[in-house]
Amino acid sequence: MKRILILALLSITILSCNQNKKNTSMNNDLKGNPFLKESTLPYHAPDFTKIKNKDFKPALLEAMKQQSEAIKKIVKNSKQPTFDNTILALEKSKEMLDRVSNVFNSLTAANTNDTLKKVQTEISPLEAKHFDEIYLNNKLFSKVKAIYDTRNNLKLDGESLKLADYYYKKFVAAGANLSDENKTKLKDINTELATLSTKFNQTLLEANAATTIEIHDVKKLAGMSKSQIANIKDKTKENTWLLTITNTTQQSQLQYLENREVRKQLFEAGWSRTNGGKYNTKGLVTKMVELRAQKAKLLGFKNYASWRLQNTMAKTPEAVLDLFAKLVPASTAKAHKEAEEIQRMIKKEGQNFKLEPWDWNFYAEKVRKAKYNLDESEIKPYFELHNVLEKGVFFAATKLYGITFKKRTDIPTYQKDVITYELFNEDGTPLGLFYADYYARPSKSGGAWMDNFVTQSTLYNKKPVIYNVMNIAKPAEGEPTLLNFDEVETMFHEFGHALHGFFASQHYPSISGTSVSRDFVEFPSQFNEHWALYPEVLKNYALNYKDGSKIPETLIKKIKNASTFNQGYSLTEVLAASNLDMLWHTINTDTKIKDVNQFENKALNSVHLLVKEVPTRYRSTYFAHIFAGGYSAGYYSYLWTEVLSDDAYQYFEEHNGLTRENGQRFRDMVLSRGNTLELEKMYEEFRGSAPKIEPMIKARGLN
Ligand SMILES: [Zn+2]
Repeated sequence: MKRILILALLSITILSCNQNKKNTSMNNDLKGNPFLKESTLPYHAPDFTKIKNKDFKPALLEAMKQQSEAIKKIVKNSKQPTFDNTILALEKSKEMLDRVSNVFNSLTAANTNDTLKKVQTEISPLEAKHFDEIYLNNKLFSKVKAIYDTRNNLKLDGESLKLADYYYKKFVAAGANLSDENKTKLKDINTELATLSTKFNQTLLEANAATTIEIHDVKKLAGMSKSQIANIKDKTKENTWLLTITNTTQQSQLQYLENREVRKQLFEAGWSRTNGGKYNTKGLVTKMVELRAQKAKLLGFKNYASWRLQNTMAKTPEAVLDLFAKLVPASTAKAHKEAEEIQRMIKKEGQNFKLEPWDWNFYAEKVRKAKYNLDESEIKPYFELHNVLEKGVFFAATKLYGITFKKRTDIPTYQKDVITYELFNEDGTPLGLFYADYYARPSKSGGAWMDNFVTQSTLYNKKPVIYNVMNIAKPAEGEPTLLNFDEVETMFHEFGHALHGFFASQHYPSISGTSVSRDFVEFPSQFNEHWALYPEVLKNYALNYKDGSKIPETLIKKIKNASTFNQGYSLTEVLAASNLDMLWHTINTDTKIKDVNQFENKALNSVHLLVKEVPTRYRSTYFAHIFAGGYSAGYYSYLWTEVLSDDAYQYFEEHNGLTRENGQRFRDMVLSRGNTLELEKMYEEFRGSAPKIEPMIKARGLN
């Protein structure tokens, strides 16, 4: 089951402008720039027949300049601050910047090239500085605060109140409430943290690249396929093969390698890659968690996680730790059962050693084959890409929400494989434009994601223009694209994000559609995955590409059974990593970290997750999500939204499943609400109660 996906670029970053006046060549650079005006295409879709690589840099600089000027105007206004001259003006200040960066961010992730990469490198250092210039601007903040403090007397509508709240909290989170002295301290901490984070990332990348196991006897690679062995041959040396590592604790080759010594060697190399020696990141980890604790204290919070979670659905680290504690018993109990099963398999194979982490995947694979006998080549003929999309993903959306789809061939795209559809509501009114970009290519980042070219807002009278990106291998010319079940689920997942964007009905773009906290945004997408295996939907799309025959019941059963396989292990390793993230970020400034490994063991032990056979998915020393990415005190979000998605699906199961009535209720109460309501309350009103963990326990087969 696919559980973790990259969801890049969901939030629009406010870029920075640090121009000086002598830049007079700007006007020439901008002549005919397609970003200066709204696109005249349907739905203001970006006109890729006009947009050139060279247009981005001048357009981004101009957009930043426009924003800076708009902000100057807000600050200089001598009139009493009002919602319109402050909050609304701030919201409008980024209009052009959104227009350019929505397209720029999409291309740098899905279809990049050297020119775009260069622009990215030049533009991104300006970001942090400009962000500070806006959000640490005292005069601007005092106006925002004046509105916020008197918001209840201003007769604002609900959404305007929410927008005032959104901007105020954004300023406060950035440190706008601090004294000038503390603002300087905060800036220094932020700068140091950014440097440490970059250093962590670089060290980890170097360690990953340098950690290889040299094999000189090909017999030691027994179990790997011929092509896998050919792929790892060191072409510069005779009789040498190189086993490389990935960023997780478990290594992909461990499920194939028959030689136990080689397995152990490979596992341990990954486990200790950054835990000492040349690529030691322990010092960086310690320094970063200490600085983050100091930052939180400066901002008036008891710990970093409390600061990070203030505007999320979970709200507090305690709520998150409480959820984890509820999941641990079922998860570890199942993992222990799986371990026993694997131990029996080891014995059956005539061995008598005790199961270790480096044996798990190798023997789990044998258990899986014995129990489920699911062969990918057996199911792939039933999952042809266009069938899955139109007769599966779209079909489910029509059944639930009444929406319909019409292929468009007249909308320009940024790459020839991208296909577009226009969406309509049940009453025939236009809903938006959808781009599907599914094939892998060298110019595309890994993973799968969704984002907007145009964000829905009634402020600008705009309907959503949305794209989904995946990385499916493109078949040879004339061959069908056959998906594995993981890819089928991913397609449903990304379209779940798309629906959240399409059904948005907000006035202001900043709080429209998917602009919600991280521990909510993966809920509609994970929820939508459920329809992939729903009988009525599956029967409609899982058709053999050769003769159109329906997928046999026996195969469906196998897919369902296999989906809960090894879930004790999977959940336990993610719970361990999630707990580590939260426990590192709930220390206070008095906590002294003597040793990273000691802290880690103690922390895992305290939450009953120090399970020898099931090590954490990431050890602190290579936990890039939290020390090099944006997921510090946020790794829990995946599990949090999984609980919501399974619990919401349970509502559908309790109320006749795939019906228009259920779909409409979900659209009205959740998918159309953007970030206008308190998320916890929004959920409870839809569900009729607080989310429960039992449906997730059941979906994972842990009951
Ligand atoms: Zn997602």
